Amino acid sequence: MTALHRRSLVELKSGLASGEFSSVELTETLLARIAGEGAGLNAFITVLADQALVAASAADDARAAGKAGVLNGLPIVHKDIFCMRDVRTTCGSRMLENFVAPYDATLVARLSAAGAVVLGKSNMDEFAMGSSNETSYFGPVRNPWDLERSPGGSSGGSAAAVAAGLVPAATGTDTGGSIRQPAALTNTVGLKPTYGRVSRYGMIAFASSLDQAGVITRSAADAALLLGVMAGFDERDSTSVDVPVPDYSDTLATPVKGLRIGIVRQHFDEGLESSCRSAVREALATLEAQGATLTEVDLPNLDYCVPTYYVVAPAECSSNLSRFDGVRFGYRAEDPRDLLDLYCRSRGEGFGAEVKRRIMTGTYVLSAGYYDAYYLQAQKVRQLIADDFARAFAEVDVIAGPTTPTPAFKLGDKTDDPITMYLNDIYTIGANLAGLPAMSLPCGMARQLPVGLHLVGPHWSEARLLQLAHQYQLQTDWHLATPEAYA
Ligand code: GLN
Repeated sequence: MTALHRRSLVELKSGLASGEFSSVELTETLLARIAGEGAGLNAFITVLADQALVAASAADDARAAGKAGVLNGLPIVHKDIFCMRDVRTTCGSRMLENFVAPYDATLVARLSAAGAVVLGKSNMDEFAMGSSNETSYFGPVRNPWDLERSPGGSSGGSAAAVAAGLVPAATGTDTGGSIRQPAALTNTVGLKPTYGRVSRYGMIAFASSLDQAGVITRSAADAALLLGVMAGFDERDSTSVDVPVPDYSDTLATPVKGLRIGIVRQHFDEGLESSCRSAVREALATLEAQGATLTEVDLPNLDYCVPTYYVVAPAECSSNLSRFDGVRFGYRAEDPRDLLDLYCRSRGEGFGAEVKRRIMTGTYVLSAGYYDAYYLQAQKVRQLIADDFARAFAEVDVIAGPTTPTPAFKLGDKTDDPITMYLNDIYTIGANLAGLPAMSLPCGMARQLPVGLHLVGPHWSEARLLQLAHQYQLQTDWHLATPEAYA
C-alpha cells in the first residue's frame, strides 16, 4: 500500500471517499512531514497548521453530511503570491513581510470552496523574479534531489514541497517559466494554462501581460483535476476570458495516436546539455511509439525570446511595483526626514537586489527617448514570436522539447551572473510571450537529476496537453521516481 504522502490527489480522493482515512488524519500526516523531514528544504514561508486542521475537520463533517466538494479534504499549498484572507502574504519580499491579506484571491476562493485544505504558503523568489529561489527574502529553497542544488524558481517552494511528498499539489505562477522550470528540476508536473484561463485577481502582479496561475503536481491527472476547479471566467479580472471550461479529466483516456508533435531544431542545439538531450529524445520516441507523429517546425524568432522578455517583464514590473511606496501598505522605513526620504528608503530597504535591477531596467526602457527604441521594439518582436507559434500550430497539434537546458544547478552557481540565470528560461519564455498553455513533465534522469519534457499547445488546448502527458505517464514511470531521502 502506497504511503499517504506518496499518493496522488486522485488516489487520496478515493481513499477519503471510501473512508480508508479521514482528512484530519491525512492533514496530520503531512503537517508532521512538513515539520519533520521537510524542514530543511525551506519550502514554506508560512505553515498554517491550526487552520488546516480546522479546515480538514470541516471537510470530514461535510463528507459525513453528504456535502463533499470535488476536492473535499484534499491538501494543497499556495505559492505565497496569492492573497489569502487573514493570512500573511509576503510574495517572498521584505516589502510584504507583515502584510496580511484582507481578501482571498479568486483561485484560493475556488479551491477552498471545492473543499481543499490549505497547509501553508510556499517560498518563492521575491515578487516571482528569479529562476532559482535565491532571491527570496526568506532564504533559498533546497532541491529534495540534492540539497546543494536549487529547485528552480520562482515557484521553487511549491515544487520542492510536492517533490518531497510534503503535499500532493501546489499552486504556482508562471511569467516566464516559473511553474515549468521548477517542475522540471524537481521531477514534478507543472502546468501553465493559456493566458486568461485562470483569474489573476488576488495574485500579486509581476508582469501583468505575462503572469498566469497554474499548478504543480506529481501526475497529469492531478493537474487536470485542479485546473478544472481553478479555471474559468472571473469578472474581477479584466483579462480573464469567458471560454467554457471543459472537463479536463474526461479526455485523459484518449490515446495519442495520430497527434502531430512539432520538434524545433534549435531546441536541441549546443545550448542543451547532452544528457538532457538524450532523455528528451527518448521521451519523443516513446510518444512516437504510441502513435504520435513527429515533424520538424521552425520558430525563426526563438533567439529573441529572452531579450524580448527582459524588456517587457521589467517594464511591466516597474509599473506594477510602484504601488509599494511605504505609504499605503507594505514596509515603511523608520524616521523618514521627509516624503522623498520615506519613498527612497522604504523601497531601498524593502526590495532586494534582483527586484531593484528589474525596476531600474524597466523604468529605463519606458522612459521618454528609450520607449521607442526598446519597449515598442520589444512589443513588435513579441508579435513576431506569437506569429511564429501560430504558423507552427497550423501544422502540428503540440510542440515538444526540453523544459530547461540543464538539470538542477548548484545554489550560488548563477547568482553573480544574471544573464546565465536568465538563460534558464530560454525554452519556456516563448509560451508566455504568446499567451500559450504549456507544461513540463518528468521524462528521465541526467546525472541522477530529473529532466523535464516541455509541451506547448495552441490557445485553450490544456485538455490536449494533459491528455498527452497522461498517456505518456501510463507508459512510463519517471513521474513516480522520488528523491531517496523523501521516499
Ligand atoms: N525566471 C523568470 C524571471 O526571472 C521567470 C519568472 C516567472 O516566471 N515568474 O523573470
